[in-house]
Amino acid sequence: MIRAEEKPVILIVDDETANIEVLAKQLSADYRLLFTTDPAKVCQLAEQKDPDLILLDVVMPGMDGYEVCRNLQGRDSTRDIPVIFVTAMGEERYEAIGFEAGGVDYITKPIKPFLLRARVKTHVELKLQNDMLKQLASQDGLTGIANRRRLDEFLNHEWGRAIRQGNSNLAVIFIDVDYFKKYNDHYGHQAGDECLKQIAAALAAGMERKTDLVARYGGEEFACVLPNTSLQGAIHKAEQIQRSIASLHIPHQLSDVSDVVTLSMGVASLVPRKENKIETLINAADQMLYAAKRGGRNQVRYAGTVLSEALASAT
Ligand SMILES: [Mg+2]
Repeated sequence: MIRAEEKPVILIVDDETANIEVLAKQLSADYRLLFTTDPAKVCQLAEQKDPDLILLDVVMPGMDGYEVCRNLQGRDSTRDIPVIFVTAMGEERYEAIGFEAGGVDYITKPIKPFLLRARVKTHVELKLQNDMLKQLASQDGLTGIANRRRLDEFLNHEWGRAIRQGNSNLAVIFIDVDYFKKYNDHYGHQAGDECLKQIAAALAAGMERKTDLVARYGGEEFACVLPNTSLQGAIHKAEQIQRSIASLHIPHQLSDVSDVVTLSMGVASLVPRKENKIETLINAADQMLYAAKRGGRNQVRYAGTVLSEALASAT
């Protein structure tokens, strides 16, 4: 589980460096360690470094460990990092507060080295297993990119974020591989799978911003979600994708539009508002994909008027 070349990361928080040293001595062989003596810096540090575990002192000046833990629990980005309290306050009621604050375990000083290492190991392994399960649950088995479930989750999340931000575009591109059934029939399903993998890899490589997502939507359907992207920006991205797939030169003898594998794409972008529904955006991109296919495939269609009409009729 724990790979030597990529040690799990533990953040140690204690206002006294002597205490940090005691813990570090026991853990430095198996983990990469980060420290801070300042409780006010823990959330930011955890967000930036994404540790696999936090060892947290309780009594500290300014902010106690319980409060730090509650703050970590209150943020999406740090909620899943397990926190073990390390403190001299061994009474049951203090331990209870620690668990209520969101801690996963409670270790009392003086430190018993064997117990410390055993409990840390258990919680780090649980965390890594959890990460892996989450990763698998959101991944498409064949291509390794995001799956439909992850796409829905991401879209909803970005829709909400764009509304909160106000005046921020959200764009989607729906993508279909042209004449893919014929491809499978002619080259076989194994070749079909390879073709989808190659396309997925090219799509993923084309998502230059960390904020963009590409997912496998269905059999030969893919979708890109591009936050903060205007219609023009999304069209530009779709054309880029079209060129990148053409440059793969995947032969497709039975295609009616080309001798290599090509894509049809539907693009839509809008500024999400509370009074709109996310389906408006999705349906618009879907309609444009359909128009691209009906219009002869191997092309990009985008929702300009369709979308403004849909929005006008909704309000
Ligand atoms: Mg202290």
